[in-house]
Formats: sequence, structure tokens, C-alpha cells
Amino acid sequence: MTKTQVANIGGGIIGCATAYYLAKKGVRAIVFEKEAAVGLEASGRCACGVRQQGRKAALPIAMSSVRLWATLAQELECDLEYTRTGNLKLVWETGKPEELESEVAWEHAQGLVEVCMLTAAQCRVIVPGLTERTLAGKLCPTDGMANPMRVPGAFARAAARRGVEIRTRTAVTGLLTRGSRVSGVLTGQNEIEAEVVINAAGPWAAQFNAMAGCHTPIRPGLDTLIITDRQPRRFIPFLRFGWWGYALQSRSGNLVIGLEPAQNEAFDHRVDYAGIAEKTRDMLEILPWLQVVTFLRAFSGITEYTPDKEPYIGAVPSLQGFYTASGFSGQGFCLGPMVGKIMAELVTGGDAGLSLAAFRPDRFAWQGD
Ligand SMILES: Cc1cc2nc3c(=O)[nH]c(=O)nc-3n(C[C@H](O)[C@H](O)[C@H](O)COP(=O)(O)OP(=O)(O)OC[C@H]3O[C@@H](n4cnc5c(N)ncnc54)[C@H](O)[C@@H]3O)c2cc1C
Repeated sequence: MTKTQVANIGGGIIGCATAYYLAKKGVRAIVFEKEAAVGLEASGRCACGVRQQGRKAALPIAMSSVRLWATLAQELECDLEYTRTGNLKLVWETGKPEELESEVAWEHAQGLVEVCMLTAAQCRVIVPGLTERTLAGKLCPTDGMANPMRVPGAFARAAARRGVEIRTRTAVTGLLTRGSRVSGVLTGQNEIEAEVVINAAGPWAAQFNAMAGCHTPIRPGLDTLIITDRQPRRFIPFLRFGWWGYALQSRSGNLVIGLEPAQNEAFDHRVDYAGIAEKTRDMLEILPWLQVVTFLRAFSGITEYTPDKEPYIGAVPSLQGFYTASGFSGQGFCLGPMVGKIMAELVTGGDAGLSLAAFRPDRFAWQGD
């Protein structure tokens, strides 16, 4: 029987970052990933936003993560295409600028002091071609983006250089227990003994938390992205248009346009063409020059939503040695590096340095979904 100190279920950004920070602490770990490579699900298909503004309970983790992102490329020895482009939230004529103003006040109180309100005229300087129907904007200049296709793999390779084993095409099918402790994982017929098991299985995580006796509702979502042809530089920041989605321009010039998530009980990757048709009509009301771009392709990823849109991070009290970092509710790419660091601290008995009370895995145990 194979033996390891830590078994990580899932090779997304959370599982790979956790494995890397564990390896830095000298802990032996194996990452089990059901797909042919790490990062093939949401972590490699996401919209690349490394955003702090608009976060709620997870804002302190996002702020710490942004500090890690600053030197991550150097640390992982890989160009992650991370840039602090800023994140600009636009208020459209039906929106309420006063809601963003109170968000600014709250974020300043949390220490995100660089966030500021912009007038419509200031927004049009940053994003030429915005129609007159834009009322205002809220800018966080230290927010940014990175290339999602590079990040989970970079963490996995850096972890492997420090001795972590990455087992792809290996689905975990069950947990092994001894009394009230977890003692490993099952992959089909194979038993792998582990002192600690970390569940980072993204939208699929609820089943393993349930095996450990913990009810963690996670609803799968369908997030669709449209990629256009390369354009001359049109704007720099990651743009958010509250009610329909977001847009950004990648380093190579392609525009990436994201739609708000749809339901996805089937856990599939279908493309929501009806949503695309409807939302692209709305988009032209905001950015009329989009009429001249060519849509090259669209794809989707499976996201993971909890009832309060906050993740589950920490030890699962009903099974000793079992931890979860799951249910990131559309925030996992930004938070990933810091969550990896937090998990490594928790597992080794260190101090995560941040309060995790809002992310208790058992917080819905007595409330139902
Ligand atoms: C289109 C889109 C846009 C997004 N935009 C952003 C954004 O701008 N900013 C942001 O912060 N976040 C964004 N997100 C959300 C972000 O991608 C996720 O929150 C994050 O990737 C979650 O990471 P994860 O490692 O928990 O999950 P995943 O990436 O889903 O990884 C979980 C892994 O576990 C594996 N797995 C599952 N079951 C098993 C099993 N039984 N055995 C072995 N392996 C298993 C899966 O194959 C998968 O690789 C977006 C997501 C999508 C889809």
C-alpha cells in the first residue's frame, strides 16, 4: 500500500497551491486528479480575474493573496502573465452609484484604501467608447489578471520539484477511516494511506465532505466565456458590468467576455448560446464598438456556489485529519495562492494568520440548504 503524509483530492488551483506550500514545509503529499492533467476544470478555464473589490468575508484572504501574486511568477519560475491592470466596476443607467459608494466606505475600513469612485467622464477616459448611459465607476487599481492556463500547472510543477507526486487520471472514489480519524483515500481498487486528507475537489467536493459527515451544500454553475479576434488595445482594466457580466482584454489583444453564471445541475460544459445572443445585444448598448469584433469561440467551466457564496475552509470536525477547501463561489482563482498557504499552515499546526470563522465547513449543518 502507498503511504503519504497528505492526500489532496483535486488538481485545480486550490489542490496544487496547497501541495506546493505543503512541500515548502517539507511535507510529503500526493495530488489526485481525475482528469489527464491538472487545471483542466474551472481553474484553467476561468476569466483570470485577480480581484479584491466587491469581495465580502473573503476580502482579507484576497488582499493577502494579491500580495503573494506579486512575486508568484518568480517563486514558481513561470511567467503567469500576472498584471495589475485594475478592476473597474461600471454603473449603468439602471444601477445605483450610492451602493458602490457604501462598498468603497466598507472596503476602506477593511484596509483596501486604494479603491475609489470615478465619474462617468473619468470612466470614458479609461474605456474609450462607453456610451452616455454609464453613470459612474468604482476602480481598484491593485486588482488585475493572470493567465489561468498557466497557474495550476506552475504550482504543480513547483510542488513536484519539491517531491510532491501528481497522479493524473486518478479519481478518488472513497475515504478510508480508522475509528474517528481519516486514514487515507481509495482510488478504485487501490488504497492509499494518508495521515491527512484535503478535499479540494471544486464543484465535486460536497460528496467527500458528506462522506466525512459534514453537510456542505455546493451548487454547480455554468460560466461561459466568449473569445474575440485580436484587437488593438481598447482598454486596460478588467471591466465589470454588474447585471450581465464582465470583459477584459488579454495580453495578446483578444477580448474575453464573460456572462453571469447559469444553473448547471448536470455538471456539464455546454455553451449557453441563448445567453450569449441575449447578453451580446445588451453589451452593444454599453460598448457599441463591439459590433466590429469577431467572436472566435466560446467555452464554459463548472463553478461551485455555496448558499452564502463564501468558501468552506478548514478542518471538518466530524472526521479527524480531514480538511476541505472548496465551494469558492467564483472567487477561487484570486484566492488560490493564499488559500494554499493557509491550508499548509492548518495541516501542520501553524497559524493561518487570518480569521477563518466565516468559512467553517460545518456552518450549514444545522440550517439546511
Ligand atoms: C468561466 C469562469 C470564470 C471565472 N472567473 C473567475 C475570476 O475571474 N476570478 C476568480 O477568482 N475566479 C473565477 N472563477 C472561479 C474559479 O475558477 C474557481 O473558483 C476556482 O478555479 C476553484 O478552484 P478549485 O481548485 O477549487 O476547483 P477546480 O478548478 O474545479 O478543481 C477541482 C479539481 O478536482 C478534480 N476532481 C474532482 N473530483 C475528483 C475526484 N473524485 N478525484 C480526483 N480529482 C477530482 C477536478 O477534475 C478538478 O480538476 C471562474 C470560473 C469560471 C468557470
